[in-house]
Amino acid sequence: MIKQPEQILQTYFGYDTFRAGQKQTINNIMSLNNTLAVMPTGGGKSLCYQIPGMALDGTAIIISPLISLMKDQVDALQTLGIPATYINSSLTTSEQQTRLSDIEAGKYKFVYAAPERFESGRFMDAMNRIRIALVAFDEAHCISQWGHDFRPSYRSIIPNLQRLPNIPVTVALTATATVDVMADIQTLLQIASKHVVKTGFERENLSFHIAKGKDKPTYIRSFMQEHKHESGIIYTATRKQADTLYDQLSRRGLPAAKYHAGLTEDERKQAQTAFIHDEKTVMIATNAFGMGIDKSDVRFIIHYAMPMTIEAYYQEAGRAGRDGEHSDCILLFSPQDVQLQKFLIEQSLMDDHAKQHEYRKLQAMINYCHTHGCLTAYMLDYFNDETAAGDTCGRCSNCHHLQERVDITEEAQMILSCVKRMGERFGVSMTAKVLKGSKDSRIRQFGLHKLSTYGILSAYTEKAINERVQFLVAEQLLATQDGKFPTLQLNHHSVDVLKGKRPVWMYTAPIPEAEQADYQ
Ligand code: ADP
Repeated sequence: MIKQPEQILQTYFGYDTFRAGQKQTINNIMSLNNTLAVMPTGGGKSLCYQIPGMALDGTAIIISPLISLMKDQVDALQTLGIPATYINSSLTTSEQQTRLSDIEAGKYKFVYAAPERFESGRFMDAMNRIRIALVAFDEAHCISQWGHDFRPSYRSIIPNLQRLPNIPVTVALTATATVDVMADIQTLLQIASKHVVKTGFERENLSFHIAKGKDKPTYIRSFMQEHKHESGIIYTATRKQADTLYDQLSRRGLPAAKYHAGLTEDERKQAQTAFIHDEKTVMIATNAFGMGIDKSDVRFIIHYAMPMTIEAYYQEAGRAGRDGEHSDCILLFSPQDVQLQKFLIEQSLMDDHAKQHEYRKLQAMINYCHTHGCLTAYMLDYFNDETAAGDTCGRCSNCHHLQERVDITEEAQMILSCVKRMGERFGVSMTAKVLKGSKDSRIRQFGLHKLSTYGILSAYTEKAINERVQFLVAEQLLATQDGKFPTLQLNHHSVDVLKGKRPVWMYTAPIPEAEQADYQ
């Protein structure tokens, strides 16, 4: 068998050159250093363990969270003539036995396994007996409780793995690049910082857009009419949203399929096949759909509602344009989305500490929807991507809308001093009400009508004030405390603005006709 990584790349996979980060990851693994590879979706993570898996002696064990993903990967390897198999709960007991015997006989170069397998004595026996080339954790962020897709079964296998004396090297792969998730993976899998390979996260063929205040079903219908023959995914926040939208579109004869965890396996399989084969061009789905779906020509991803975190958003949006062609990622934002995500956090089984953490990540997502700066730059900054080219991508909706720069320093000072006078005890909407001079009974109740800033921005609509307050938060000129009801607080940037040391500019896009009524 060929042992040179370059030769394997060319002979088996048919590619001429490595992509960013691949060679370094492969070299680390070949030198038996535990490695973490962080690359964006579509960056080419699979080859990072498949090539060393072929070059090193023994069998490579790949831990993978999704059954469908394992099967796809195994099929792809088998097509290339590489012996591979998988072991998971979809197999009968006797089939599992047969495969385990074959694994013990050294028939396979690659074995994909669900994390639960490592709790089975029979499976662990087999692992003990064979020569292991490497262990790879695919979608490694599932290990971390800070990841957006934490799977306890992923984490609990680590002690079992540590009991195996024959693992020469471990590799973790993920598209999640937040500091806490990376640190968690490094600690749990004993990966030194010098063996972390992180590529740039910018996807130059993706344009990000935010659309606010739209009637969402109407927006989707006209978008689909305009992009008739293009393939796209519409992500909803809940199964119910997916069902409703699916019904609305199908009734009008639009070629949509749907996918969520509430459907039977058959229904999901059918929907997926129809989408992959372009019988249905648009997939309406919850986040249950996507991991491992290798459809390279997805031209658009629409988020029907704001997701909970930037990690989740970037990963889902990143499923567009894997073929490198230009693709659009659109987020349809409405204020109710925020309420829904807060509700989901409250309903979850997380402890208070973890909830607090989720609220912090949610706030970063909300800020993304309110920033007036470049959307790409915002996300790259969130992922601490130092390779980012500049402050503006020139492709996103904010870069396109950056038309009129307005000095709002005075309004900002009024907002900030109002926050101060309100004792830094209230959130965005109460602050906006006070600035507007609203007659809301709670204002009297708290005695806020007596403040000198009460009604100081009465010339604006409450919505316009709200937007300016959110803008100050997004630009970090005003802080919010994390939690279900985030209160506004001043920070050192606010002090600079109040002292007149720092001007505040806002970019106002021309207001589309449909929305003008809201502003009057
Ligand atoms: P990820 O797991 O990071 O989302 P994949 O491993 O699925 O990405 O790779 C995405 C696509 O890029 C696949 O179609 C893969 O065959 C292709 N690819 C990977 N490495 C290379 C390379 N060096 N040159 C060209 N194409 C590549």
